[in-house]
Amino acid sequence: MIELKQIVKKFGEHTVLDHVDVTFAEGSVTALIGPSGGGKSTLLRCINLLEIPTSGSLRIGEESLEFHPGGKAGWKAVQKLRRQTGMVFQNFQLFPHRNAMDNVAESLITVLKWPKDRAHQRARELLEKVGLGHKADAWPSTLSGGQQQRVAIARALAPSPKVLLCDEPTSALDPELASEVVEVLAQLAREGTTMVIATHDLRLASTIAQEAVFLEVGVIVEKGPSRELFTAPQRQRTQRFISTLL
Ligand code: ADP
Ligand code: MG
Repeated sequence: MIELKQIVKKFGEHTVLDHVDVTFAEGSVTALIGPSGGGKSTLLRCINLLEIPTSGSLRIGEESLEFHPGGKAGWKAVQKLRRQTGMVFQNFQLFPHRNAMDNVAESLITVLKWPKDRAHQRARELLEKVGLGHKADAWPSTLSGGQQQRVAIARALAPSPKVLLCDEPTSALDPELASEVVEVLAQLAREGTTMVIATHDLRLASTIAQEAVFLEVGVIVEKGPSRELFTAPQRQRTQRFISTLL
């Protein structure tokens, strides 16, 4: 249901994604692994169009776009596709001057033009889902990193995206706080949320991802069921990388 075809992303002369072809099935959870600088964040940012690909095509559900070097993707089409995605960042990136409830409700009110009552109702449900119903009035600075990330997950889910993109969602957290975030992501996985998760955390990856993609210098070296890719990778390069994570 999410299909990237021949996606290229260049920054100047530097090719960061080199003709990436990959699909993510509805309801699947995919771990995106690979060395730093390999293009994981750029790939996620190209799926939610925080970065516009240099060329290639992207389809999410019914919506699709083609990109051409020097071509300008229409703003409306980009917005439409972007709305199919939700993004969770390594450093949470909550609005610091809004409480948890307003962080979650924000896009519903300003982008989707929901009435406040309805947006707050939905935000409350989502905060409860991530175990933070009692923190609706809390400011981000008063929350632990794990709690902030759970608010960020609730915020990303608010507009009911077709896919949740997570860029190293546990990397900024110490193990105890990371595990409460993993627990929330695991619950979402059980409920059938489509997710693509860039991570160095093999425990996170192997607990919740059925699929894995190994990306290095902008090229997909290997992809397949995570169990096989983590325990019996076909490529030597993948093998060497996996052994550094263990
Ligand atoms: P990863 O997330 O796997 O660590 P990134 O996608 O962040 O990899 O980066 C891939 C490459 O793209 C790196 O060489 C990085 O320096 C480069 N890069 C990422 N974003 C930009 C940018 N906005 N401008 C120029 N180069 C960038
Ligand atoms: Mg990254």
